[in-house]
Amino acid sequence: MSNQPLLEIQGLKVAYGGIQAVKGATLEVRQGELVSLIGANGAGKTTTLKAVTGLQPIAAGDVRYLGESIRGQGAWDLARKGLVMVPEGRGTFTRMTIVENLMMGAYNRRDDEVQADIDKIFGIFPRLKERAEQLAGTMSGGEQQMLAMGRALMAKPKVLLLDEPSMGLSPIMVDKIFEVIETIHGQGTTILLVEQNASRALALANRGYVMDSGEITMEGPGAQLLDDPQVRAAYLGH
Ligand code: ATP
Repeated sequence: MSNQPLLEIQGLKVAYGGIQAVKGATLEVRQGELVSLIGANGAGKTTTLKAVTGLQPIAAGDVRYLGESIRGQGAWDLARKGLVMVPEGRGTFTRMTIVENLMMGAYNRRDDEVQADIDKIFGIFPRLKERAEQLAGTMSGGEQQMLAMGRALMAKPKVLLLDEPSMGLSPIMVDKIFEVIETIHGQGTTILLVEQNASRALALANRGYVMDSGEITMEGPGAQLLDDPQVRAAYLGH
């Protein structure tokens, strides 16, 4: 792991009209890290990711990616540069097959390894391989989450932003999704993971941040946060 952060969020403020959703958040993600951002419903986690990917304007502060400010850049340009988000609600192309969705993830690539990468994705997600020709819209929530993650990986992200990947899934699917996140991280992908499932997200994380009412209130190694009495009481229910 190098010391140069790939992604730096500095004093970020984001507002919806008069409502301040993010009030000066600072966090960073370094090469090879899995960083988890946890917090209650409405804490401002999704808004933070939206500001990073240009989907919501930045009121104050800065976001730096690969050492450069990316304020004002759009989601498509950022994805082309390797900053790729899997949004809450997944956003798969429901009328396309699984294979077609994966191909869409590689739309901006010029190399000839797309097929080899589809095979790699099928290695990570055997369920997608079994259903390669099925329409994405007919798959279960967990399968669509896998597809959205697979599609994002097809873009060869330098930093993968995952917004609540376990939301609304059955316990078995939640296990599977966290297993896959661990695999993807183990294979070298740098990840910023936003989750309400604090215990699972912190257990996997190199480092974690806690967000409360738009502010980062704690940060530290994942294992340390997991053991912290305040975090346990507020986010783990014990
Ligand atoms: P969740 O886990 O529920 O998605 P979150 O931590 O991701 O929560 P955000 O979705 O970022 O929280 O919301 C932060 C605050 O901003 C909340 O008070 C929310 O009501 C508000 N908010 C989010 N989106 C909008 C919007 N489009 N217009 C107005 N207010 C919004």
